[in-house]
Amino acid sequence: MGSVSKLCGLSPAVCPQLDCHHRLENNAWVQLTLRGKETMHKVLCLTVLLFSLLVLPRAQAGDPATWVNANMESLVKLYIHFHENPELSFQEEKTSQRFAEELEKIGCQVTQNFGGYGVVGIMENGAGPVVMLRADLDGLPVTERTGRPYASQIQVEGESGGMVGVMHACGHDIHMTNLLGTAQYLAAHKDQWQGTLMLIGQPAEERGSGAVAMIDAGLFEKFKKPDVCLAIHCAAGIPSGKIALRGGFMMANVDSVDVTFYGRGGHGAYPHTTVDPIVEAAKFVLDVQTMVSREIKPTEPAVITVGSIHAGTKHNIIPDDCHLQLTVRSYADDVRVKLLEGIKRKARAAALSVGAKEPLIKVSEGTPSLANDEDLVARLNPVFKKALADKDVLVADQVMGGEDFSQFGRQGGMPTLLFWVGAVNQDRLSRYGKMGLPIPSLHSAEFYPDTEPVLTTGITAMASAVLDLMPRQ
Ligand SMILES: [Zn+2]
Ligand SMILES: [Zn+2]
Repeated sequence: MGSVSKLCGLSPAVCPQLDCHHRLENNAWVQLTLRGKETMHKVLCLTVLLFSLLVLPRAQAGDPATWVNANMESLVKLYIHFHENPELSFQEEKTSQRFAEELEKIGCQVTQNFGGYGVVGIMENGAGPVVMLRADLDGLPVTERTGRPYASQIQVEGESGGMVGVMHACGHDIHMTNLLGTAQYLAAHKDQWQGTLMLIGQPAEERGSGAVAMIDAGLFEKFKKPDVCLAIHCAAGIPSGKIALRGGFMMANVDSVDVTFYGRGGHGAYPHTTVDPIVEAAKFVLDVQTMVSREIKPTEPAVITVGSIHAGTKHNIIPDDCHLQLTVRSYADDVRVKLLEGIKRKARAAALSVGAKEPLIKVSEGTPSLANDEDLVARLNPVFKKALADKDVLVADQVMGGEDFSQFGRQGGMPTLLFWVGAVNQDRLSRYGKMGLPIPSLHSAEFYPDTEPVLTTGITAMASAVLDLMPRQ
């Protein structure tokens, strides 16, 4: 018995012998084996060494997850740059500049200032499908309270005067880094795919108008029209390491409605000489909810929220008017129309009931609902499961939030897919659970993604999808 030292050059990770001990000497792995098993061990080790030299490098060289981990330092640096320098919607000048520079570095033909601060990067790699990847560029007027060393210190003048903090509270900094990382990976592995990649930096997503601005500027005419469009969004409630997707409706139609009720002002002690717009508005606020409970099919999602109501100056003065702001959410287009028409009817009815004149109603159409293409989801689900793991690909919940990524598929007519990438590690999620606190949501001043696992998962999933959609012929 007794043990001998053998140099075989293998790390413990690939050594096949369970009872073998390893230690590092002069940068080489030394194996301590039992003498009786020495020959068999030598054969086994040599076989594994040969396998690892000939087969593994080929399998792993093209593996997105391995690539992401090898390039993590520069990816995190890029993420921190975007995070430290957020810009509001319609003001993404420097963000788009950096985004464009990164695309130029990897050999894309880049067009800037396309539909506002939109960026289009084209990477040609022979004949084949055109696949569009989209990231959004804008931050939010939120003063960051994450306590991160790289927390945003940026402040700008707010719309109503005064300074406001700016923060990537919706994770668009992760989306940009994810897209650029995926593009870097694909640029470095052009032998593994073919076709044309269209890499989009979209402005003003938070205002629901950047996608339309780029489409209206001729995105699908001046460049090749994509066959497929993909995007990610990080998700505050999904653990990092996991993604979530579903076919069909996933996000809602989003519309805003402004209603002004007109009354006749006067003394609060003499209501009979006035027409009270506050009572008029109060009737409307309650009555409009019966749209959802009585007029829309119970299995169809619909939300009407009165988010703001303003009138009056003092206890004993009945004001002349009352102004309300509503957000209206739905999935189906016919439900959307029904809700918007119904709101107008209910507002007129409230005015009529108190003998007031016609209210002023302004509908601002926002983003249309987002439905992922069923066939595309069916195709990519197994691809994601292979690239990540079965347990890491979840079925996404339907939510009533909106995303103007929906515009690309709606207007272009091609299949599209937006999938969620889990943003917060399980430990942190559990800690919130134990404290009985809700997890900070997207748009919260306390929301931050756990950068490294989110980038690993997001880039691995996105790159694997592209490799599947753009196979080498
Ligand atoms: Zn957002
Ligand atoms: Zn967002």
